[in-house]
Amino acid sequence: MRFSGWRVLKEGLTGNKGWGPQWRDPEPKRDYDVVIIGGGGHGLATAYYLAAEHGITNVAVLEKGYLGGGNVGRNTTIVRANYYLPGNSEFYSHSLRLWEGLEQELNYNAMMSQRGILNLYHNDGQRDAAVRRGNSIINQGDDAELLNRDQVRALAPYLNFDNNRFPIMGALMQRRAGTARHDAVAWGFARGADMRGVDLIQNCEVTGIDVEAGKVTGVQTSRGVIRAKKVALAAAGRSGQVAAMAGLTLPIESHVLQAFVSEGVKPLIDQVITFAEGHLYISQSDKGGLVFGSYLDFYSSYAARGNLPMVEHTMENCVAMVPAVSKARLLRSWGGIMDMTPDGSPIIDHAPIDGLYLNCGWCYGGFKATPGSGNAYAHLIATDRPHGAAAWFKLDRFRSGYGLMDEEGTGAQHNLH
Ligand SMILES: Cc1cc2nc3c(=O)[nH]c(=O)nc-3n(C[C@H](O)[C@H](O)[C@H](O)COP(=O)(O)OP(=O)(O)OC[C@H]3O[C@@H](n4cnc5c(N)ncnc54)[C@H](O)[C@@H]3O)c2cc1C
Repeated sequence: MRFSGWRVLKEGLTGNKGWGPQWRDPEPKRDYDVVIIGGGGHGLATAYYLAAEHGITNVAVLEKGYLGGGNVGRNTTIVRANYYLPGNSEFYSHSLRLWEGLEQELNYNAMMSQRGILNLYHNDGQRDAAVRRGNSIINQGDDAELLNRDQVRALAPYLNFDNNRFPIMGALMQRRAGTARHDAVAWGFARGADMRGVDLIQNCEVTGIDVEAGKVTGVQTSRGVIRAKKVALAAAGRSGQVAAMAGLTLPIESHVLQAFVSEGVKPLIDQVITFAEGHLYISQSDKGGLVFGSYLDFYSSYAARGNLPMVEHTMENCVAMVPAVSKARLLRSWGGIMDMTPDGSPIIDHAPIDGLYLNCGWCYGGFKATPGSGNAYAHLIATDRPHGAAAWFKLDRFRSGYGLMDEEGTGAQHNLH
């Protein structure tokens, strides 16, 4: 089934009776070439690129809940390629380029909206950092512009420019950044993978990873044993728990990150705005809700719900930045489990067990990585060589210290930054 304007028109005129399920609901087979653990954005994108670019279709994605029920459907939907450090910057650049052609490639409306991002700066030091970051982004081949206070005011007049604590001096802008509808991205990749023969198995929890003589042979699941030549982790916040099934300890701490949505209001915020001093990001959804978030809840947890001190902190920052928000009612909030690494950068690599692959450590930035991560991970699984854009994402860097990309500057303990 292809989507098109004509199809929408035809269905509209004929009672919308022709839409079918977007993917099959198959029983798991006994044996696959590749089993992917986790039906979030990264697992589904990996399955799609394995089939679409490498012709590997004897693949199962095993998801313990429902497709897209994890972080891919819980994030604040921001897509950008404005990372600073080598290793990260070329990867996110690759990912943004994939985003730009994704809807056409998948024939699926992921509501990709390149509305631009403004990273506000509030003092001279932050301005200097923004200049350096901007130069690095331009060097990478992506776009960045330094805006002064008046230019920011012209784009976002509702911001609080006269806040004594956090005066707005300007912003680093990336016009190609923006937002995409998060769960539609998961559905688009799921549909694309399914159309190429990948089995998407929901309600199938992996409970064990079978290893014989140093080689992976399959997985134990809530729906029985499934054998596989290759097993690929894509379990995001649960990566530490899943890796432990193969006897591995990963350099990952799991923390909760919360998101908030207000009631729908008239169009107010055109871009994505981030507030450097208090660490807040805000955008407006197509339904009118203001979507925002801030820091992690600063203790390790697997509970996907947030705590009140961070709610208070986030509201305080939000009202300091956009005073008009104080008049809106908060509609809902939720949490997701983040797989935090000590250097704030991800891992896409072989595990030290033959046939086992790792994709984890996305911290709070893995949504924008979805196509790039799936693309690079599929390349690694298919060829056993790292993709050029993800060549730095080695597990070994945490042992050797070579190749660390301390993008966050928070060090090993995220609750201490
Ligand atoms: C509140 C919030 C805001 C965020 N905002 C942004 C943002 O604006 N921009 C951005 O780039 N990133 C953002 N992120 C981060 C981003 O959402 C994640 O980094 C990314 O979604 C993680 O990859 P994923 O989509 O594959 O994860 P998930 O969707 O969590 O997929 C992992 C899947 O593995 C499954 N699983 C786990 N264990 C097992 C098992 N044993 N057996 C079978 N299945 C299993 C889970 O059920 C889950 O569905 C945000 C995250 C949160 C929570």
